[in-house]
Amino acid sequence: MEILHEKTALSRYVQGLRAQGKRIALVPTMGALHAGHASLIQHARDLADDVIVSVFVNPTQFGPNEDFARYPRTFEADCALAGHAGATAMYAPDAAQMYPDGFATTIHPPYTEILCGAFRPGHFAGVATVVVKLLQQVQPDIALFGEKDYQQLCVIRAVVRDLDIPVEIQSVPTLREADGLAMSSRNRYLTQEQRENATELFKQLTALKSALSQGLALQEALENARQALKMVGFRVEYLELRQENDLAPLTAFAPQSRLLVAAWLGTTRLIDNIAL
Ligand code: AMP
Repeated sequence: MEILHEKTALSRYVQGLRAQGKRIALVPTMGALHAGHASLIQHARDLADDVIVSVFVNPTQFGPNEDFARYPRTFEADCALAGHAGATAMYAPDAAQMYPDGFATTIHPPYTEILCGAFRPGHFAGVATVVVKLLQQVQPDIALFGEKDYQQLCVIRAVVRDLDIPVEIQSVPTLREADGLAMSSRNRYLTQEQRENATELFKQLTALKSALSQGLALQEALENARQALKMVGFRVEYLELRQENDLAPLTAFAPQSRLLVAAWLGTTRLIDNIAL
């Protein structure tokens, strides 16, 4: 597997692949790779000849009081995992490569006022801007994103559509631990007790889904789930039912919808979602 840190080296590598007529996939990540990321890389491998995994802990998508400084950085293990999963190159630029002096352009995507956007001002602008930069630098045929970050997926699809970026966006289902907890780089922040309680997030989403399909009123079902999460120590930021395609709000159960949640356990913020 090639390891590339510089934009110019990436560009030479990509030109080489293009000259051979290779189909290129990009899997953007912030590192601290786990089996969920491996699943993205394996899907990418099925859909392209070469898979470039980017690792960049993007400072512009973290708020001033968020976990940028403590975000896990495990580059050697990341290279091993990515290589094992089938990546052909790792692209790991530093902040000076991505944001050289004078950098001044930010993309303002849609969906920034709702769900995570409402609690993380500037987050999706940071995500959209760095993803567009990565797409420009790599110029992949296809880029893969996890449903785990469902709102992010909606943001990226909208940006690619609106800015006519010639790339196919492929989503990949959320990979979960055996007890249902969505795999996340942030799970390693959890204490043992919090880790045990964290499973309640997926349990409540699943219980909500079955309550709604049995006809329980939406507001009542949401309130029950919020209370159950509170009981095990969660501080819920939001728990909502939204339309799947455009995240429009819903006041009652509807097909093609998605339950989305963000909640804190101590100092760790977890997100999850499921399709209805
Ligand atoms: P991150 O490194 O957290 O920015 O995630 C990089 C990519 O991996 C994003 O597209 C995420 O949605 C995706 N991802 C993270 N966790 C999972 C998971 N448990 N299952 C599938 N994809 C995931």
